[in-house]
Amino acid sequence: MMPKHHPSDALLVAYGSGSLGEALSLAVATHLARCPLCRAAAAEIDALGGALLEELAPEPLAADALSSLFARIDAPDGWMRRDAAPVRLPAPNPCRALDGAALLPEPLRSYVGPGMDQRWQRIAPGVRRIEVMPRTARGGTAHLLRIAPGTALPHHGHGGTELTLVFAGSYADELGRYTAGDIAEADGETRHQPIADSHEDCICLIATDAPLRFTGLVGRLMQPFIGL
Ligand SMILES: [Zn+2]
Repeated sequence: MMPKHHPSDALLVAYGSGSLGEALSLAVATHLARCPLCRAAAAEIDALGGALLEELAPEPLAADALSSLFARIDAPDGWMRRDAAPVRLPAPNPCRALDGAALLPEPLRSYVGPGMDQRWQRIAPGVRRIEVMPRTARGGTAHLLRIAPGTALPHHGHGGTELTLVFAGSYADELGRYTAGDIAEADGETRHQPIADSHEDCICLIATDAPLRFTGLVGRLMQPFIGL
């Protein structure tokens, strides 16, 4: 089924230019795996970026440009460091199989790895979690959440951008209702309380570029345990 909620143009441009952090890039790339509309939009953005590059006047290279480039690639603390460089993930493949981790499209499935069904950790009544990406130096992080039907997450705001991508079930909040394939985009202005609102567990990816800010007492008490 075609997703109903898509990334904003600004988010696709940031993804295309490589300026999104790894966690948010993972969420966008995984949405693209299921969304031909956004794949077409991303291809247009790439073509536009290429055309702009071609119009730039050539810059003369320094005599030692090539050797200094290889030195930077080889440096142990250089620009290949995982949380330091802008990230552009490989092109996604569509989802193939049917159960466990296989319900996840690439590139997320490779990040989650094998044995997903045994790795859910209970973090609150009705809420289980798998860490997909530990928090980076810049604050980004990604988790899978599995929310039982009818369960509400604590009310919260955001220090930056939060992307939620749904794979099974559905949830609703102040912004809308989201089902499989949909992506929700929340920013520093957004405060919301997602509630799983169908008869099956809602399985979703939560990717952030800064920690969430829980606003209620229960949420603040739970924050150290939730780790989002
Ligand atoms: Zn889309």
